[in-house]
Amino acid sequence: MTGLVVVGASLAGVHAAEGLRRAGFDGPIHLVGAESHRPYDRPPLSKDFLTDEQVDENRLVLRPVAEDGALDLTWHLGTRAVALSNDHGNVELSSGETLAADGVVVATGCRPRRLPLSTFEGRDQSDVDGVVSLRTLNDARELRHRLRSADGPVVVCGAGFIGAEVAASARQLGCEVVMVEVADAPLARVLDAEAGMAVVDLHRRHGVDVRLGVGVDHGHTDGGRLTAVTLSDGTELACAVLVVGIGVIPNTEWLEGSGLTVGSGSDDGVLVDDRCRAAPSVVAVGDVARRPHRRFGGTTMRVEQWDNAVAMGGYGAKSLLAALEWRGNDGEGVVVEPFDPVPWFWSDQYDRKIQFAGIATDDPEIVQGSEGDRQFVRAYFGDEDRVLGVLAWNRPRQAIIGRQLIEAGADRATVHDRLG
Ligand code: FAD
Ligand code: NAP
Repeated sequence: MTGLVVVGASLAGVHAAEGLRRAGFDGPIHLVGAESHRPYDRPPLSKDFLTDEQVDENRLVLRPVAEDGALDLTWHLGTRAVALSNDHGNVELSSGETLAADGVVVATGCRPRRLPLSTFEGRDQSDVDGVVSLRTLNDARELRHRLRSADGPVVVCGAGFIGAEVAASARQLGCEVVMVEVADAPLARVLDAEAGMAVVDLHRRHGVDVRLGVGVDHGHTDGGRLTAVTLSDGTELACAVLVVGIGVIPNTEWLEGSGLTVGSGSDDGVLVDDRCRAAPSVVAVGDVARRPHRRFGGTTMRVEQWDNAVAMGGYGAKSLLAALEWRGNDGEGVVVEPFDPVPWFWSDQYDRKIQFAGIATDDPEIVQGSEGDRQFVRAYFGDEDRVLGVLAWNRPRQAIIGRQLIEAGADRATVHDRLG
């Protein structure tokens, strides 16, 4: 074999490279990453990396890279893949080099969505001093500095994961925080409105001024520096730092002309089958991949969560080797079952660990405690009373059991029995 090319040197890409080696693949592996840093973990960037100056950047380095020098990769950091040939045999890089590939792993993740240019009188938000998004280590370095030196309120636009976690971190640093969300409840795409309001209560109790049903319409600057924002309801707020956390866009532009199915809008991302295959010699994994979820009626979804990137990266590696009919020195090939784990995430806000497995449905029910408590469990049911989602609020054990119950297709009575 000429070799395999993994594009995207972050969580999913690194776990794919590790998965290839674990499966015994001993040929060349090229790992191509647009960022110049060694691959690192993103979850601390919105949490203790902001609040605790003791968090050393070396501790963020991803485990397979930090612990296993034997991955034996050819690194191309600070380099973008700019095209994948239509026969999928060549990956063109921004350096001008072309890598020949027997197989390709697409793991290019997502980037933050930006506020429209009209918000800043035709300027991009990155050209306005005081406006920050959070995805990369460089973003987090900048945000850490700005939160510590803020001489006025921090406005957080978007009460999704980034917004809620950054608001909590900023409050822990003593900043005055206003959190603005266009929807009627935060985290609306993953939680139901009632659970979302528990997040609002949590933030209000910690002194965050939460405003729902409004967005940021206009940013006011003085000498290029942000000074205030006007909300869609006309309110003007002083603002020293504006954190924009309004969702993400998958990095798929480089795949134009490759023949892979790349969607847009609510179908965005690289479409893969239940073996993470986008084409006979291409798999896509992590945040960028849209896969079918059989246990949720076959609907295709992108899952933007840490656990998914790790699991899909490792699985995708094996699936690629199986598709290429690769055989190890012992003559054994690789066999894979369809990939269909229950998605799962956690979010740390103040002293709360919020964990969620599965999907929210329009049939939620509290099974332990109540939304005002420090700890509670909420389950979400689907057809035939089968559990499809579990929210565990400061109940880590229930989160694990909840995920198992979803996997087993447990009914309402069993859920009450095991989680109540
Ligand atoms: P990414 O991490 O986005 O990595 C993709 C990589 O590909 C990037 O390094 C990018 O530069 C590179 N790339 C893009 N285009 C190209 C190209 N053309 N050529 C080469 N390289 C390219 N999840 C949780 O479950 N719990 C949490 O608490 C949590 N906290 C988070 C906190 C923050 C601040 C962020 C940003 C995310 C958090 N997540 C969390 C989500 C989790 O980190 C992501 O799901 C995960 O990083 C996805 O990994 P990925 O490798 O698919 O994509
Ligand atoms: P997100 O979770 O999708 O939330 C974005 C929120 O902003 C949504 O509620 C969205 O509403 C709202 N919004 C959209 N446009 C807006 C506007 N103009 N004004 C105000 N609000 C607006 O995305 P995110 O918080 O930006 O997070 C980015 C990525 O990081 C995601 O992939 C996320 O999974 C990941 N992350 C995960 C964790 C975790 O799992 N703990 C932590 C941090 C980051 P609509 O849905 O209606 O558009």
